[in-house]
Parts: sequence; structure tokens; C-alpha cells
Amino acid sequence: MSKEYKNYIGGKWVESKSGKRFESRNPANWEEVIGTFPKSTKEDVADAVEAAKKAFPRWKKIPAPKRGEILRRATEILVERKEELARLMTREMGKVLKETRGDVQEGIDTGFYAFGEGRRLFSQNAPSELPDKLALTFRLPVGIAGLITPWNFPIAIPAWKIFPALLAGNTVVFKPATDTPACAVEFVKIFEEAGLPPGVLNIVTGTGAEVGEAILNHPDIGVVAFTGSIEIGSRIAEVAGKHLKKVSLELGGKNPQIVMPSADVDLAVDGALWGAFGTTGQRCTATSRLIIHEDIYDEFMHRFIERAKGLKIGNGLDESVEVGPVINEAQLRKIEMYVRIGQEEGAHLTLGGHRLTDGEYAKGWFFEPTIFEGVKPDMRIAQEEIFGPVVSVIKVKSLDEAFEVANGVKYGLSSSIYTRDLREAMRAINELEAGITYVNAPTIGAECHLPFGGVKSTGNGHREGGWTVYEIFTEWKTVYIDFSGKLQKAQIDTWEDME
Ligand code: NAD
Repeated sequence: MSKEYKNYIGGKWVESKSGKRFESRNPANWEEVIGTFPKSTKEDVADAVEAAKKAFPRWKKIPAPKRGEILRRATEILVERKEELARLMTREMGKVLKETRGDVQEGIDTGFYAFGEGRRLFSQNAPSELPDKLALTFRLPVGIAGLITPWNFPIAIPAWKIFPALLAGNTVVFKPATDTPACAVEFVKIFEEAGLPPGVLNIVTGTGAEVGEAILNHPDIGVVAFTGSIEIGSRIAEVAGKHLKKVSLELGGKNPQIVMPSADVDLAVDGALWGAFGTTGQRCTATSRLIIHEDIYDEFMHRFIERAKGLKIGNGLDESVEVGPVINEAQLRKIEMYVRIGQEEGAHLTLGGHRLTDGEYAKGWFFEPTIFEGVKPDMRIAQEEIFGPVVSVIKVKSLDEAFEVANGVKYGLSSSIYTRDLREAMRAINELEAGITYVNAPTIGAECHLPFGGVKSTGNGHREGGWTVYEIFTEWKTVYIDFSGKLQKAQIDTWEDME
């Protein structure tokens, strides 16, 4: 029997006013229903915003270190429930257990970081240009935060947003992806158990078109933090812009791994396998382009293809499986479409390219690890985000050409170079147009206490993670305290007047 989940609004578990429900299913076994969820409407969002608005004055008055203590309690519960949530996540979205444990761990790390931030939330002071006058700054919460998340990191990404939003004193309306609502609701239950006051965190499940749009259009939501595709991201920016909301966007990637002749080839192969096929290629930071110098091309490709052939595909609950299913049928069709496009464009399909349908595979959405060689930088498979286990390999003659190819896309999230030449590594750090550059490590594997995000169309200039996420969820208040006892005029009084 699948579980019946509800929305959490104002501290109560409630049905949607629509009375309708939708299902979440296991991508490794589509017959298994994980749970059913309220198919919510804009009325439900309005209720959640009302609850968040009511809770805000009290929550923002609680000192940040004390808010942090509640978040620490929630994080401790997350620690206790790590294994159970990892297993639920594997069932709900397919990632292998090792990775879903990592996903929950990222939530744990982010929670403890937020607890610590409760005693920092640093601001800056500066000298006033006038005597006997103090100039100070403070961080204030924005108000109500609307959080919209994707399915590929069902706990980590909500945690990246919820913990800092709450720590900074905002109240939250959270809309999770329609493919992973069970993980999201279980995550919210943890905050309830930790004693978060009613209305401070609310979850409303449902579609982007209904629930997401209602969040964007609600006048009382002050900041929208979104992670997802570039298409929806630009829609978010458009609507939020119209309403003058603060908005942070974490969007897609077309992340390159460069391999130079001096590289440790085995290390570069390990990195490429993990970067391209980990999470079945469904990471915003996945390695979707391999840019290989011609002098090492044959040696690298030989080992890479052999290792990719040996990857074990299957249900992520089996600890020996390395590559799980893709998220759903629509995504599988999209990957098939890109394989066709790659072949029509004249790239060479070296490995994979097909859906797996034999035996147990027939019940789920399994796709072979796929390698295209002979890819030209302007082909669609080298330009567009596929979001599956497909990697496009581009051969180059020089480091300069590698940079040109790497930078020749609209995205700019992650990037990597494998080299033993210090000069090449330093040049890559300077020249790769990306929010993140790895040296001798794959394009995936960001740590929660450092800024995370991308340049160009990957985002709109914000960074989640670490201390930078607090820029998204706070506003600055500048305070001047004049204790001179007379009227002083900035920009007008000269230093001689002050003598
Ligand atoms: P998506 O853009 O389809 O959906 C993301 C969220 O937006 C979901 O909750 C969805 O329901 C909601 N949504 C859809 N239409 C909406 C609308 N009109 N208004 C408001 N909300 C709406 O993305 P996805 O398929 O869930 O996730 C995959 C994408 O996310 C990939 O492009 C990937 O690169 C990106 N991603 C980026 C990062 C990052 O930090 N840069 C991390 C993970 C995933």
C-alpha cells in the first residue's frame, strides 16, 4: 500500500482544496507507487503564504543563534534518519544508495553549517565621513521565501535553501519537484519534530504550472529561490521581475572535462566515469563534454570505453549497482531524441545509445551509458543539456583550442582539467568560464560550505552554499548614529567645518 501524504500548512497536515492527488513512482520499477500527494492549487499556496506571513514577526524576533538551535535539532534528526531517507530516495528517484546517502549527508552538512552561521551572520561597519557618527550594517530577513526545487537532489537542494532561509529569519513556502515529493515531505516532518513553530515552514505539493506559478505571482512572497532548468528559470526571472521580487536562479550546465597529455590517465578516466555516469548523468554539474588533447586521445579513450562497458546498471537498492535508472519516461524519450540528433549530426556512436528492456529492466527507465566520438563543438549534443548518461567527446590540438571549445556554450557551471603541468592548471583556473573549476578532479563533487553556482546562462549571479547563500536570503540595513548633538551634513560639511 502506498502512503497518502499531505501538505503542511500553518503547522497542520492538510489536503489540497482541489481534492485531487498525484502519484510518485519508482523509476526502477514503475509498478511501485511510493505515495500519493495533494495536487495543490493557488488557493493552497495562498493559505501557505498566509500562514508564513502570520509566523514571520515572531520568527524574525527570535535571535539567530536560537533559530540555529532549532535547525541543529532538525539536523540531528536527519542524522538519525539518514539511512531510511537514503533508501526512500533511491526508490523515489533511482540514484544508487551510495549517492542517496551522500545526498542526505549534504543536507546534514548544510544544517550544521546553518547552526554555526546563527552565531555569525556577520555584517560590516565602516567609518562615517562625519565626526561623532557611527555607520553600521545589519542583515535582515527578506520576509517570505518561495523555494522551488528539482528532483535530482531531493534533500540536498531543499536543504541548501531551507536551512539558510530559516536561519536568516525568513518564513518559507516550499514547492518540491513533482517527481520527488515523498523525500520533500519527509524532510519537512523533521523540522516539525524539531519544534519549528507552526507556519515557519510550509510545503505545498503539485505542478509547476499551478503551484510554482502561484508562488511567483503571490505579492507577499519577497524572494524566490529556484533550482532547475534554464527554460523554467527564465520564466521565473520574467514573472518575478514583473513583481519586483528578489530571485536567485541555479540552472543547467554543459560541463567540460579537459584532459591534457601530461595527465595521469587512470585518474582522468576515473574522473570522467564518475562525472559522466554518476547519478546516471542527471546532475547539473555532470560531465557532458570530454575535451581530449589529440596526443593522449587514443590511450584515454581506449581505457574510458573499456571501463564504461563494465559499469553495472540496475536498481540502485542493489549495493553493487553503479548506474541507476533515469527519472521518468519523458526524460528517457528526451535522451533517445538526443541520441538520434547526434547520429544525424554525424557524430559517431561509440558505446550505448539504447534503452534497456530485458528482464527486470523492462519495469523501469534504464538507459545504457552512451559515448559519442567525433563530436564537433557546434553540434547540438555538444551545446545542449541532455541530462542523462550521455557524453560527447571532442578532440582538440592545443590547450587554447580546449578553452575555446569549453567556453563555447551558453552555460558556465562546472569545469575540470586533468594535467600535471602547473602552468596549464593555472591557465585553466583563469580562463575557463565557469562558476567552479576542478583541477585533477571531476566536474561533480561540490562541498556545501563553499559558493556554488555558475556564470552566463547558468544563473543570475547568485551563489548558494557557504556564506554566499545568505546574500540571497537577507537584505542589508544601514544604520547611522549621530551623537554630535548638531545637524551634520554629509557631502556638504568640509573637514574645516568639523574643526
Ligand atoms: P525543471 O526546471 O523542470 O523543474 C524545476 C522545478 O520547477 C520543479 O519543482 C517544477 O515543478 C517547477 N516548475 C516547473 N514549471 C514551473 C513554472 N512555470 N513556475 C514555477 N515553477 C515551475 O527542472 P527538473 O527537471 O526538476 O531538474 C533538472 C534541471 O535542474 C536541469 O536543467 C539541471 O541542470 C537543473 N539543476 C541545476 C542545479 C544547479 O544548482 N545549478 C542543480 C540541480 C539541477
